[in-house]
Amino acid sequence: MSDCVFCRIIAGQIPSTRVYEDEHTLTFMDIGQVNPGHVLVTVKKHADNLYALDDAQAAAVAHTSARVARAIRDAFKPEGLSVYQANGKAAGQTVFHYHVHLLPRHAADGMELTWPVKNPPREKLEGYAEKIRKQFA
Ligand code: 5GP
Ligand code: ZN
Repeated sequence: MSDCVFCRIIAGQIPSTRVYEDEHTLTFMDIGQVNPGHVLVTVKKHADNLYALDDAQAAAVAHTSARVARAIRDAFKPEGLSVYQANGKAAGQTVFHYHVHLLPRHAADGMELTWPVKNPPREKLEGYAEKIRKQFA
């Protein structure tokens, strides 16, 4: 038996409250419910994180996220919706099976993400961009 909690949920070995599934993805309620309607879009085939997704999984997650987001909007009429996805402990990931949070939002709901902008000069941006572009060469 897998020791990955989300693999066990996907296999039906532990209970979850499911909302949507297709060939590559399963969406179920997050047990923590930061706000009502908070769900997790997961991939059925285990992948630790975003880096490990194949193209079919990545496409399916985008498709499912958009579909389920519209369903949450219509069901809960939230003032906003945050899409949150963590890769690695330093980024806040606690379950190491890829998942996307779809999180209905309301003004002053206590959810916080600090965003410490640096606004570097354009030469810095060019340098950072070049480091990434080189990886595609
Ligand atoms: P992360 O911090 O990795 O982005 O998010 C993990 C999420 O998984 C948390 O929001 C947590 O509430 C949720 N979670 C952890 N264990 C379970 C579980 O057994 N069932 C469900 N439905 N959610 C879980
Ligand atoms: Zn897993």
